[in-house]
Amino acid sequence: MIKNYKMEPVIERNSIPSLLKILSSDYSIIAPQERNGEVVFDDLKDPECLVLGYKVTILPPKKYLFPPEEILFTYSGKGVRTPSITSKKLLIFGLSLRDLEAITQLDEIMSTPHPDYFYWKRRSRSILVGVTDESVHAPPGGDLILERMDDELYRAIPLTQAGKKIVKGRFFKKQDILPHKGEGNQVMEELRKLLLDPETLAEAVKWSRAEGHPVWEELGKRCIGCGICTYVCPICHCFSMENSVSLDGSTCTRCRKWDACTLPGFARIAGGYDHHPSQKKRYYNWYYHKFVRGYKEYGKSQCVACGRCQTYCPARIDIEKELLGIVKDYREACG
Ligand code: SF4
Ligand code: SF4
Repeated sequence: MIKNYKMEPVIERNSIPSLLKILSSDYSIIAPQERNGEVVFDDLKDPECLVLGYKVTILPPKKYLFPPEEILFTYSGKGVRTPSITSKKLLIFGLSLRDLEAITQLDEIMSTPHPDYFYWKRRSRSILVGVTDESVHAPPGGDLILERMDDELYRAIPLTQAGKKIVKGRFFKKQDILPHKGEGNQVMEELRKLLLDPETLAEAVKWSRAEGHPVWEELGKRCIGCGICTYVCPICHCFSMENSVSLDGSTCTRCRKWDACTLPGFARIAGGYDHHPSQKKRYYNWYYHKFVRGYKEYGKSQCVACGRCQTYCPARIDIEKELLGIVKDYREACG
């Protein structure tokens, strides 16, 4: 029997902490680690604490590129001062394929119509390394992906010059390996299928609103407007601006903070008029932005089916179930 072996760069699992130790002389390393029984992205002080093979982190890695709160500038009698970033370059290690895909989308969103200066200040100094149990057919982004072949071995898939440079290091060797069958990520498989046809998803969401589908009334009652789904989403990127003036009036600081369209006040404007006065309207707007506007502007839905919003929603709203229901009713009604 002919076996379909292929020479590929590989790294052993127990060499990964040593690789990270070496890389930490050039980069600040961010990687998944356990905190109180959950897995979170955090500064990696001890590479032995790295957690791989986790399901999903609470907050997505976007917090390192688009922080929850950030001073844009301070104005004083001496002029305007913008904070500078002088720290080491960032290496975010252990990203899932979903999070890599989300950052690829964020890169596009943060580039149009004008590049977001603050996002790109960090992003251009970042290296992204994915680690996955799934077999990688179409790499969704990043600089390097490590695909787990078995308990001991990871195949390296470098995607950029920075990724190739890492793979040239002494912890990688070339080895014959069999094609990886990959177990796949079982999270939200049905939603992933829907996302392959973003046009139908956009049409179905628009149709459901125009037809007064009862789902919006029901979800508007269940949603408590806490904003968690937005904060944990790896693609949501809305923000608000806040100016604070010191008591003596000598300085003014402008800060941007994550915002969420499900929060009361998100669409309130000067004079008190609120474009989304009910929770039903606010909740629909979240879907509209992701599935209708996202498709119109970028040709894809702003969702990668990571599962965070449904995992951490206190009202247990399951976006996959709701969208499946909407698309099913749309297909039945519109053929
Ligand atoms: S997490 Fe759940 S309850 Fe909170 S805003 Fe989102 S949908 Fe509503
Ligand atoms: S599943 Fe929820 S949290 Fe994850 S990308 Fe989609 S909308 Fe965002």
